[in-house]
Amino acid sequence: MQQEESYEPESAVDVMGGSVFKNLWGYISDHPRLMIFSMFLGVVGGILQLAPHFIVYLIATDIIADQISASHIYMLGFICLVLVVISFASSGASSYISHVIAASVQKKLRQKIAEKLTRVPLGFFASRDSHDFKTMVVDDVEAVEDGVAHLIPETTAAFASPLVILMLMVYMDWRMAIISVIGLFSAFYLMGVAAAKSTEITKEFYASKAKMGRLMTEIASILPMVKIFNQGDAAIGRTTQSFMEFNQLIAKWIGSNVNTTGWFMLLSSSALVFVLPFGLLFIYLEWLDLGTLIFFLLFSIGLNNLTINIYSLTHRIARQANIHTKMDEFFNAAELEIFEPVVPSGKYNIEFDEVSFTYERDEVLSSISFKLEQGSSLALVGPSGAGKTTIARLLPRFWDVNKGAIKIGGVDIRHMSYQDLSAQMSFVFQEIFLFSDSIADNIKIGREDATEEEMIAAAKAAQIHDFIVSLPDGYATKLNAKVNLSGGQKQRLCIARAILKDAPILVLDEATAFADPENEAELQKAINHLIKGKTLLVIAHRLSTIKQLDNIAVIVNGKLAELGKHDELLARHGRYKDMWQAHIRAKSFKIGTQKIVGDDK
Ligand code: ADP
Repeated sequence: MQQEESYEPESAVDVMGGSVFKNLWGYISDHPRLMIFSMFLGVVGGILQLAPHFIVYLIATDIIADQISASHIYMLGFICLVLVVISFASSGASSYISHVIAASVQKKLRQKIAEKLTRVPLGFFASRDSHDFKTMVVDDVEAVEDGVAHLIPETTAAFASPLVILMLMVYMDWRMAIISVIGLFSAFYLMGVAAAKSTEITKEFYASKAKMGRLMTEIASILPMVKIFNQGDAAIGRTTQSFMEFNQLIAKWIGSNVNTTGWFMLLSSSALVFVLPFGLLFIYLEWLDLGTLIFFLLFSIGLNNLTINIYSLTHRIARQANIHTKMDEFFNAAELEIFEPVVPSGKYNIEFDEVSFTYERDEVLSSISFKLEQGSSLALVGPSGAGKTTIARLLPRFWDVNKGAIKIGGVDIRHMSYQDLSAQMSFVFQEIFLFSDSIADNIKIGREDATEEEMIAAAKAAQIHDFIVSLPDGYATKLNAKVNLSGGQKQRLCIARAILKDAPILVLDEATAFADPENEAELQKAINHLIKGKTLLVIAHRLSTIKQLDNIAVIVNGKLAELGKHDELLARHGRYKDMWQAHIRAKSFKIGTQKIVGDDK
């Protein structure tokens, strides 16, 4: 998935995480009451943490009033202890409940992701990186746990206790209350600015981290190629550059945080700088008594400690914002439309009827129409980027057409279930998908209920049986990093899979068949076996290989330029003739003085 994580703060509320909490609340939509209970317990725990401050204040006022006694102090000490125990128990219960909710949210979120994946078109996967799916399903869902289990109750508690202190302060003396919060409000203003900045850097940080992950996955998978082509330095260079970018971002992040964190700490702990001189002045002016000043001294320090908790939440809120944006983009991805299901007709003639298609903005195919009789063959030829692969991929509904219709046996494919549609066709594309299962399992994906004999017959027809039995574990060989298959062997495994499936329609990317010159003869035999009696659609790259086919469609700029048999098209002196002549010229190129002539001439 190439999408970069992005998050643009839109308003001050956004910056402070307003939309993050709205999203988190959306995730817990099944348990709102339980979460409110957890928040309540969190708040109770947080407020009761203030008990020691309050008890010290009571003792101080008793001392000032000269009413202190040992039994009174013991009693206050005991009450303090009980309140602190209740505070811990309450915070613990809050955390336990929120973790239970978080576990259920994670399970539901993973289910929701899995369900969404069944509704998006196949093309959604083709244009995205598998590493990003893994990150979303494992890491991002894991991170939502922090949001639900910690951020919701902790943030409520982190705001509730300072609010209670503020109310008490205003109740005790509003002038001193204002003085107590001057430094704090400046610190909060700074935090707002820092949060906006940190959100930006957090966005860059996670984008860079995702890029590094993708690069590592890519490097691991292409390592053999890197070695073969002696591209070690280049590959290491790219990885090093990505690490350097990541390090620079971390340095930038730390740099910006050190500054703001320093100022925040200074301002938020500056209460005493204001409270003490003003408090003494007010006592001198007889606006304040000593007991109340002690109250403000104690609680302004308490207030500072609590607000530091809030500051530490900002980075986690920024991280949640990134994840939520990514999840939103995923859940908003276009889905396949569901049409009234129709049972396939059992016929396998294909019709493209005025098909137009757009990936994002520009129309890639416009009004393409052709028919392919059951058992006949059609090659798609044309310049690179003309739309041949897109036509082939519309057939299995990688995407749905924007206009017109594709029909198989007279039935619009949008009315066929994926199971029905995929049962009718096999593909041999350039991308080869092999699972880290045994060779037998990989072939049997074509038809899981196939017998051992049928599987072996398919492997023989695909010219891969001899190679498989030469392996120490034969068909039971697990395909993993230790088993090295050549490109041609992988292709023949895919062909064996398609032969075993024996679907009536076959879509073939001809490049697959000739990617491995040493195996060309064997591959050609395998392909010939595969295509026998099928309705065949071929994306053609070398004209010489498809001139025998029943029909050739010339695609240029997303339009059907010409359609007919090889000889008919040559006789037309049109686009196909130009392509054919270019092909012949390419086949008879010169190396030094020696002329190599292709067999088509
Ligand atoms: P061909 O197979 O003839 O080389 P394609 O069908 O691959 O042509 O591509 C046709 C056009 O569609 C090209 O301009 C290509 O860039 C564009 N295209 C192909 N795949 C995608 C995609 N997944 N998203 C957006 N554009 C695409």
